Amino acid sequence: METTRVPADQAGILLASKALKAGLTVGVPTETVYGLAADALNAEAVRGIFLAKGRPADNPLIVHVLDRAQAEGLAVITPLAQTLMDAFWPGPLTLVVPKKDAVPDVVTAGLDTVALRSPSHPAVRELLARSGLAIAAPSANRSGAPSPTTADHVMADLQGLIPLVLDGGPCEVGLESTVADATGLVPVVLRPGAVTPAMLAAAAGECLVANSAMRPLEKGEAAPSPGLRHRHYAPKARITLVKGPGDKVAARIRALYGAEAKACVMVMEDRLDAYQGLRTFSLGKDMYQAAHRLFTLMRQADEEGLSRILAEALPEEGLGLALMNRLARAADFDILSL
Ligand code: AMP
Ligand code: MG
Repeated sequence: METTRVPADQAGILLASKALKAGLTVGVPTETVYGLAADALNAEAVRGIFLAKGRPADNPLIVHVLDRAQAEGLAVITPLAQTLMDAFWPGPLTLVVPKKDAVPDVVTAGLDTVALRSPSHPAVRELLARSGLAIAAPSANRSGAPSPTTADHVMADLQGLIPLVLDGGPCEVGLESTVADATGLVPVVLRPGAVTPAMLAAAAGECLVANSAMRPLEKGEAAPSPGLRHRHYAPKARITLVKGPGDKVAARIRALYGAEAKACVMVMEDRLDAYQGLRTFSLGKDMYQAAHRLFTLMRQADEEGLSRILAEALPEEGLGLALMNRLARAADFDILSL
């Protein structure tokens, strides 16, 4: 299959809308990461997403909608979901709510809940409006790889496997959406993202974070969010995270670096001085820059043929919680605490 890449302008969006209505899959920009879109109510089209990504069938998809009115056709909008929609939609917050029959089982991996999000990116909003469809869209990478934050990343992973990619430039946030369970009275964060637990608590009065968001599942433990069962966001290079006082961390990273043929060090900009003379990747000045760069740097390490990424642990506050969730999973929880 030939993959066409077009700008996410009016002509491109019209082409994408036609492709979706014809049951095809399309790579689309959103404010979080690029998504691989299909008509959410067309089970055959949705199977095309799983096929192109090589995604396990037990990992449910996020359904993108324009607004609450469209969401209502797909799910029961609980009072909590309503509060959170009012506060954060459109934006990088996915809400897990009880599904209605209209949603095919292939979308939810057989669960009786569905994950809904209303994205803010103008191109995908225009696509939702023009097509009138609800759009199922997981990240547009091969399953397990770092999520794509540019159209180049989508092409690198899915060229030849999907017919069309809309190029809307680099994604603003760079990390996948926050996923919160909104079936009960208190939101439970299943996957941290740019909408932080503190922000959710400010809107809903309270917020919990599922234990499994920040640690590996124990043997036989049920995953509150099925995606947590799978290795995720990982480059080919092995990642090790080192946690502790700055001088000790730097000494340990230098020792590990010396023992590795082709390593790099990935740290915040203000920590680069501790690693002079080594190959370094800067995550930037603050957590927003770090979120924006993380997946690009992972892909760059692979392009350079590096075998090991040594990273300093980040503070698990605000956006740092989401960054550490992705880093810990990419590292397969190889975390040294000093
Ligand atoms: P992705 O679209 O690749 O960012 O992945 C979507 C994530 O949303 C998956 O990892 C799922 O675990 C999570 N998710 C989707 N639907 C549900 C659901 N009904 N209940 C809990 N988590 C869900
Ligand atoms: Mg994904």
